[in-house]
Amino acid sequence: MTKFLSFTPDARRIAEADSVAVIGLGRFGTSLALELMSSGTEVLGIDADEDIVQSLNGELTQVVRADSTRLDVLRQLAVGEFDRVVLAIGNDITASILTASLLLQLQVPVIWAKAVDEQHGAVLEQLGVHHVVYPEKDMGRRVAHLVRGAALDFIEIAPGYAIVKAPAPSTIQGKPLGETGIRKTHGVTIAAYHHNGTWTNADNSTVLDPDDTILVVGPTRAAEGFAQLL
Ligand code: ATP
Repeated sequence: MTKFLSFTPDARRIAEADSVAVIGLGRFGTSLALELMSSGTEVLGIDADEDIVQSLNGELTQVVRADSTRLDVLRQLAVGEFDRVVLAIGNDITASILTASLLLQLQVPVIWAKAVDEQHGAVLEQLGVHHVVYPEKDMGRRVAHLVRGAALDFIEIAPGYAIVKAPAPSTIQGKPLGETGIRKTHGVTIAAYHHNGTWTNADNSTVLDPDDTILVVGPTRAAEGFAQLL
């Protein structure tokens, strides 16, 4: 725990860049932190576990072993100066809630927090956390849609509205999309298509080939139904 004090100037420098602090580096927090790094965002990672901190040393802009339930620690790490903080502690609900309340006390402008269930999420929302996510529930629902149908990928943007990746059905191949009438007959839009290794936005003049993949956008049932056409 003595080590984090020497990181403070670095943490403050990171806070000034396009940066995010990620608290809790379990599977979810680590995956999120590494993805942020790969897209050019600086990341301060914080975890109480020395082994986790060691294993991520050099992978994130800065990784610090610290207890996020202590206000003095969060202050030392300049966490209150970050525009965005992700709270990725899940199973230890007490630590999650205590940390969330400290982040709110520090007036972090945007806090994202992971919840393990509805009750946990409700408490985080009542505290005032800006965005609560349910990774396990969301992934379970998404995989259920993949298992059920022919979709190659599925994202529900909002309840009842989805984007589905699927093979192009034979009924709409070989003629311009504008002549297929799929918006009227199926209530969906084809937003993009994958042909010879490249994704391109689709328009009325797009003609699909047998090996093409499409992105279908529309009400979940309609988009899924369309993805199941052969
Ligand atoms: P995942 O499913 O993402 O692996 P999880 O739901 O199992 O994570 P937890 O085990 O609660 O989540 O915590 C994730 C990480 O948060 C762990 O690496 C743990 O060491 C860290 N952590 C827990 N409490 C604290 C705390 N008070 N301060 C800092 N880190 C903490």
